[in-house]
Amino acid sequence: MTRLVLVGPPGAGKGTQAEALSAKLSVPHISTGELFRAHVAQQTPLGKEAKRYLDSGELVPDTVTNEMVRERLTEPDAKAGFLLDGFPRNTKQAEVLESILAEQGTSLNAVIQLSVPEDVVVQRLMSRGRSDDTEEVIRRRQQVYLSDTAPLLNHYADVLITVDGVGEVDEVASRVLNALRARA
Ligand code: ADP
Repeated sequence: MTRLVLVGPPGAGKGTQAEALSAKLSVPHISTGELFRAHVAQQTPLGKEAKRYLDSGELVPDTVTNEMVRERLTEPDAKAGFLLDGFPRNTKQAEVLESILAEQGTSLNAVIQLSVPEDVVVQRLMSRGRSDDTEEVIRRRQQVYLSDTAPLLNHYADVLITVDGVGEVDEVASRVLNALRARA
């Protein structure tokens, strides 16, 4: 059970949980948001292209995102498993992920949804202080989540595990691990 995707609205704690879970499961944590922010910081061509989308809360175009993920997933450390955080974010990306995995003769084991009420999410983001965490951009990211990403929950109904994301980091991580064990 090591090919995993974390989904949830911005502020659900995907990055925090992905860190905790990747250590416990010994698989790399692959965050498209972090990959993009690293490109922006290093001012690579990809970073220059992605910056305006990050700054406005829009999704970076699929062509750019999919290629970046394809490259990352073919690195040796991702062969035995991975924990994807922030990808896929729409059904087209989900299809691309499936085809990348099919080429490797594998498929996803589970999609973990972190369920957190909207008021908690907004509070967490406002106190995080990342440069794209202004009220307007937060609101836009929430809208994009509802319109583009939430439909994935249906798409993944067969492999979906929904976990209560409210609580201490370790507590939520234990819930996820227990749910994974119960399915294995
Ligand atoms: P959050 O979970 O708070 O939205 P992320 O770090 O996951 O933060 O994403 C930050 C930004 O990076 C998004 O608003 C978007 O512009 C870009 N991004 C991340 N993942 C993707 C993706 N799979 N497709 C397109 N854009 C993405």
